[in-house]
Amino acid sequence: MKLSSQTQIQTLAGFKSESLWTTSFFLDTDKRLKTKKEVAVSFKNLLNEGRTRLDALDLNRVRKESLHQDLEKIARFGTQRLPSFNGAGLAIFACHGAKLWQDLTLPRPPRNHLFFDRSLHIRPLLSIRDEYHRICAFLLNRQEARWYEIFMEEIERIDSIRSDVPGRVREGGWKGYESKRIERHIDAHLHEHFKRAAQKTFELFKKSRFDWLFLGCQEEYRSDVESLLHPYLRERLKGRLKPNSAAPDKILREATEIERALRAEKEAALAQSLSSELEKGGRAVSSLKNVLGKLNTAEIQTLVLTRNFAKEGRICPKCRFLYLDSLRCPVCQVKTEKVQDIVHESVHAALDKKIPVRYVTPPSRLDRYGKIGAFLRY
Ligand SMILES: [Zn+2]
Repeated sequence: MKLSSQTQIQTLAGFKSESLWTTSFFLDTDKRLKTKKEVAVSFKNLLNEGRTRLDALDLNRVRKESLHQDLEKIARFGTQRLPSFNGAGLAIFACHGAKLWQDLTLPRPPRNHLFFDRSLHIRPLLSIRDEYHRICAFLLNRQEARWYEIFMEEIERIDSIRSDVPGRVREGGWKGYESKRIERHIDAHLHEHFKRAAQKTFELFKKSRFDWLFLGCQEEYRSDVESLLHPYLRERLKGRLKPNSAAPDKILREATEIERALRAEKEAALAQSLSSELEKGGRAVSSLKNVLGKLNTAEIQTLVLTRNFAKEGRICPKCRFLYLDSLRCPVCQVKTEKVQDIVHESVHAALDKKIPVRYVTPPSRLDRYGKIGAFLRY
């Protein structure tokens, strides 16, 4: 199945088994940079490394057996489906004892990783999802209007209309007066066509709630068309497409480029606003240790992370507070447990508390603050 929605991620994030542990498997399968054979080798290495790690884990027999079954099923996936697998990345989520199995095709390569944990490791999915926006590409000429939905580098035509607008008056006509009258008549038709198209765009928006609108039309019509758009649409208008793009893959390429530039801009602005808040000693913190502290006390408003940043850490089994290196929970006075990736735990903790998580692609201004930061509530 393709990774295609926030709901998919939320369902996985919400998966809990009272007694069992889960397996999350991520593989970079980007064939632009690697051969099929290299992908197969990384798959095997990752699996073998997982088996060794699992043998050494101090878990009860039932939990261990379920994880072993997960690895066996992943190994079968490797022989049966991996050779024909197309996609930049593969994610597998499994919990044999609870009958969970989900393999996903990712539009971006994740880092190779295999996690055993109580909850599924969904952070790579969130980080990928955060890169994309739901875009509506609206293409318009004198007779026709077409709409495409673009999401995660896929394009789909969603609607189109045709209007009966008479062609342009090419000559002056037999009398100047007559020609002007015809022009006005055509303008009225054209205006009607644009108006219809603008209304249709709003209807489509009400249905699919896209984040951004990219408009492709001739420059001479642009201001007319824009002025006819509903204010909700005008504030989502973020990109200009070439008016003559007809082939969907061409529109997709153009839109993806604009999206990439807009995202880079947005991330840079986020990192910048965090860094200026930090520099003036405002409502923000940086560094993993400080962020974990503020997350434990529920003071965080937005968590800001560098993509793919990971670090070992510790968790209190009683209150679930997160620590970088405290061997004993200062609140409960019990021994903390080691976790493979405390950044992953912090994302889960944030999601549980309904705290938004934003990502920044390295290198960025965030690097000098320990790759992680947060805006605080107060
Ligand atoms: Zn505790």
